[in-house]
Amino acid sequence: MGTYAGVDLGATHIRAIIGDESGTPISSYKTETPRGPNGIAVTEAVLDALREACAAADVEPTDVVAAGIGSFGPLDLAEGIVENPANLPDTIDRIPLTGPVEKLLGTSKVYLHNDANAGAIGERFYADRNPDDMIYLTISSGVGAGVVVDGNVLSGWDGNAGEVGHLTIDPHGFMTCGCGHDGHWEAYCSGENIPRYATRLHREDPVETALPLDTEGFSAADVFEYAGEDDFASHVLEQVCHWNAIGVANMVHSYAPLVIYVGGAVAMNNPEQVLDPIRDRLDDMVMSNIPDIQLTNLGDDVGVRGALASALTDGTGDPAKGV
Ligand SMILES: [Zn+2]
Repeated sequence: MGTYAGVDLGATHIRAIIGDESGTPISSYKTETPRGPNGIAVTEAVLDALREACAAADVEPTDVVAAGIGSFGPLDLAEGIVENPANLPDTIDRIPLTGPVEKLLGTSKVYLHNDANAGAIGERFYADRNPDDMIYLTISSGVGAGVVVDGNVLSGWDGNAGEVGHLTIDPHGFMTCGCGHDGHWEAYCSGENIPRYATRLHREDPVETALPLDTEGFSAADVFEYAGEDDFASHVLEQVCHWNAIGVANMVHSYAPLVIYVGGAVAMNNPEQVLDPIRDRLDDMVMSNIPDIQLTNLGDDVGVRGALASALTDGTGDPAKGV
């Protein structure tokens, strides 16, 4: 029986799993992502996670037939590396992934994806109807998507297809995005930016509110908690939902998906508050077929399960290409 590996390299954790030919996990291992001293330390931690997962499954690394890797970006797919990640300290400039993993496992079948694409591959592979046209949308510390059209996972020449968090949704550019440009979706709706947006809105119109705007730990969770009871918090959430619906409607018109799976901490922690308003608004915004909007089936494991699914399907998530 063949064994396959998936790795999820996230800003806080590295997850590795070993699975069988059906994509059922046999073992898993989770460790913290090193914050330094350099990129090689992160590479070593990825290799260690794979070794640990193999040991727990009682297989040798060289028994692994193929592996998928889902990672934060930016990626250089041709080189098989992460280059200057924004969410780790500056001393981490270059994280080699594909080459060292190929060497450890003794196979050239190693597939590298950005984390949103890995999510799309996982949702596609493990979904009941394995849709050929679908999107995995993540709303977490950032906003991004993995897009499958006509059975192909879109990557773009440089691997940056699906960077929907940087769609311009507000032509007035009220908020500036972490990328430096104004009016991008992520600048209003990511977990990092919802509290910034609330603070900014309040500065424009300093109404009475119970939201702890000036407290150090003020977070997106506060906005979701107070919405419905506090008028200003409700207004902030209403605006966030408005921008989310615009972003989703733009994706629907661009890609014609049958289903959009939504993951990421902001959506998973507040599924009704995030998803219902998007569903409610699409009717008024979309001229074509309206897709199902569903919460991810795979929870926190969507990245690592997607990486395993990639290993099983030559990087596609298409079960027809499975082993
Ligand atoms: Zn941006």
